[in-house]
Amino acid sequence: MENADFLAFCEEIQAVFAENGMAALLTPTACEQLYRLTVHMLAENQRYNLTAITDRSGIILRHYADSLLCARYLAPGTRLLDVGCGAGFPSLPLAICRPDLSITALDATEKRVHYVAGCAELLSLSNVQTVCARAEDYAKGEARESFDCVTARAVANLRTLAELCIPYVRVGGSFLAMKAKSAEEELAAAQAGIGTLGCRLEKKEEILLSGGGESLCRTALIFKKHKPTPENYPRPYARMLKKPL
Ligand code: SAM
Repeated sequence: MENADFLAFCEEIQAVFAENGMAALLTPTACEQLYRLTVHMLAENQRYNLTAITDRSGIILRHYADSLLCARYLAPGTRLLDVGCGAGFPSLPLAICRPDLSITALDATEKRVHYVAGCAELLSLSNVQTVCARAEDYAKGEARESFDCVTARAVANLRTLAELCIPYVRVGGSFLAMKAKSAEEELAAAQAGIGTLGCRLEKKEEILLSGGGESLCRTALIFKKHKPTPENYPRPYARMLKKPL
């Protein structure tokens, strides 16, 4: 692939990844796949209503680099669940840049799941599976307590998110929440509920992401699961919202 648009994309993504200590994630194959994903996402955006971010710099920083912030917390071979994957974030950049991971991308919206499955096929990503379901329903089946790590980006506040995600984490595994702002407040409100679900906070790390003259603050919250989640969780979604844990 040699066209001018591809070369400009490579130059910019290499600079942003280097600036954020992610250069090792960007192999030549990953760079080409992220470019192909960008072209495909923009072409399908109208049909699937995938993203409001449509400029190259925004996509590189706010979708790709941001999605890949969690890569540093994932051991080789991790079985990861992405709850509420939407247009495939963080699952698709992670699958591209970390082929060792085995990723399940779950969303309640059929159109988005169909799009993510199409991306995985287009890019020959054999490490991505898709599931169309509501997270609170799918957790009642075999997937319960079967993942090494569960993450989610921009899906719900921490109290609700914990109830959607933690039931899927195996004992000894982790729940990884990447939060933009208000991590402190959300954490204080969610701590007791997270304990009830079987997890405790293991690590909290603030990360500054920058590129193209823009900076984003992120807080990584890593919770370790030390006991099984009681059977009555997750509750129906309306109940979670009405009476948060
Ligand atoms: N994670 C993506 C991202 O960062 O771009 C998408 C974020 S989008 C704002 C939230 C997504 O979560 C939507 O695609 C929605 O369908 C999904 N979602 C919300 N609640 C859900 C639930 N209970 N079960 C499954 N998917 C859910």
